[in-house]
Amino acid sequence: MAGLEDLYREIILDHYRSPRNRGELPVPPARKLEGFNPLCGDEIVLYVDVDGETTEGAVISDLRIGGQGCSISQASSSMMGAAVRGKSVAEARKLIRAFKALMSIHESRLEGDGDGEDLAAELKGVKLGDLEALQGVVKFPVRIKCATLAWNTLAQGLDEDASEAAS
Ligand code: ZN
Repeated sequence: MAGLEDLYREIILDHYRSPRNRGELPVPPARKLEGFNPLCGDEIVLYVDVDGETTEGAVISDLRIGGQGCSISQASSSMMGAAVRGKSVAEARKLIRAFKALMSIHESRLEGDGDGEDLAAELKGVKLGDLEALQGVVKFPVRIKCATLAWNTLAQGLDEDASEAAS
């Protein structure tokens, strides 16, 4: 397993050193979303362009990332951007759920309550690819918030979009 951990570490460091989709987008039309993890001091700023009239047909046409923080938070935001850019909002939500399941399955195992079977269902049929590299983070529970910061920030932004569309 040492070989796999080395590979994971390399993927994380690669995203940290050469973050994808860094920058800003004009607001509006883009939305600016900000997230902060006080436990570690990580800051994430997302610029998200969503195209499409209906909530179902909406696509994340562009996404840029700013902010600063530890290697885990920055690598995770870079990986997230690469994973959801160009995807539909529905696909992005699926990925967010799957990624958070990946993080919390291990969390619940660490805490010894259950084996996370419900969460495993969320992961079914979702390809996480490089994102699986971040599962090593769960060995350090205080870092899980670092890894999920960008994802929670995006999820919040998408939910606000949906509630605006509904009102
Ligand atoms: Zn952090």
